[in-house]
Amino acid sequence: MFEGFASPAFVPAHDVLQWAIDTFIDEDATLLNEEHAHLRHASLAFMWTTVPNTRAGHRIVGQCEIMPPMAMGKWQKARAEQQIEEWFGSVPDFLITLDASYAAQCDVTEFCSLVEHELLHAGQEMGPMGPKFRKSGKPTFAIRGHDVEEFVSIVRRYGVGAAAGATQALVEVACRRPEVGAVQISQACGTCRLLRAA
Ligand SMILES: [Zn+2]
Repeated sequence: MFEGFASPAFVPAHDVLQWAIDTFIDEDATLLNEEHAHLRHASLAFMWTTVPNTRAGHRIVGQCEIMPPMAMGKWQKARAEQQIEEWFGSVPDFLITLDASYAAQCDVTEFCSLVEHELLHAGQEMGPMGPKFRKSGKPTFAIRGHDVEEFVSIVRRYGVGAAAGATQALVEVACRRPEVGAVQISQACGTCRLLRAA
């Protein structure tokens, strides 16, 4: 999986893209999640990085960005777009960066959940009428935030009913057996030299 990239800090991960499509996105994907259905109309790109990243003391092992790069000066933006075009041939709708050293040591379940976590950030913009589309019929893309952001302390003190967002739903699914188990993952594994190598 990491053949020939000891030195560069960032390298395109074209095979991860194909694996993610085959595993999570396509209609006949082995571990299909319909929440990714809009991504069948998106262009995605994956990168490996060897650069460690932390935020507020937490290790960051994946990141999803909407493209083209925003919040930059003209030259910074043009330079970033040129770099991305050189890597991928064009600027995708979303760019997902994965920590290569984490991926090399995590288990298969952790890797699947990392990739799906980043794919879930690759959202479709929502309006009052529901999901938004462009004139061309293509979905309008947007970064999707986490379903739940709450303090454990609030749930401990006031219960799940008083907690923010989808905390209640999160607690309910946390009490169930995961839909994606070792058996399904091993099937995905069988079609995927990436995961066999991992
Ligand atoms: Zn996240």
